Amino acid sequence: SSSGRLVGPNSENGGASDAKNLRVKLVLLGDSGVGKSCIVLRFVRGQFDPTSKVTVGASFLSQTIALQDSTTVKFEIWDTAGQERYAALAPLYYRGAAVAVIVYDITSPDSFNKAQYWVKELQKHGSPDIVLALVGNKADLHEKREVPVQDGIEYAEKNGMFFIETSAKTADNINQLFEEIAKRLPRPAVSSTQ
Ligand code: GDP
Repeated sequence: SSSGRLVGPNSENGGASDAKNLRVKLVLLGDSGVGKSCIVLRFVRGQFDPTSKVTVGASFLSQTIALQDSTTVKFEIWDTAGQERYAALAPLYYRGAAVAVIVYDITSPDSFNKAQYWVKELQKHGSPDIVLALVGNKADLHEKREVPVQDGIEYAEKNGMFFIETSAKTADNINQLFEEIAKRLPRPAVSSTQ
């Protein structure tokens, strides 16, 4: 089967228990305008098109990557459609997520504060083994930078998260972001007692 295995609390719905083909739910969180849709479009379609929005109503976009050990990881990337802004809906959105990518804009200290809010929220209410990534996007706008790279590094270190700065515009570090997440996923153990 090519359906793979869903990592995380929804494992029972994951189809074949194939340890080499992981299927993971990934959610993006962060202030409106930080570039979440652009990051997804850059990763999935290889494009930067600020006028095209991820279709509202589609449940998710997916993209599969192969790692060096021949494991494949199929990311099911949930389209927020802004839902995460409504506190009451947020838990529905990130429930069962194996990965949360929390995005801020390096030109916006407010968005960095909001990112820290999401980190706390996910630490409290996310799956216990969730992989958290902190992303400083719009790294191409270095002349307008207001969040020092060191602030991102230190906050992520303190919270045991992966950190990277990206540019959806130039594609800088976009593939690396998803590759590094894939490497950090808990691998399903192949059990001999099943
Ligand atoms: P979302 O609300 O978080 O999904 O943000 P969008 O993906 O819709 O992006 C918001 C705006 O930021 C758009 O006008 C994009 O063109 C712009 N944007 C997104 N990513 C980048 C980036 O890496 N660099 C620059 N310069 N602009 C970006």
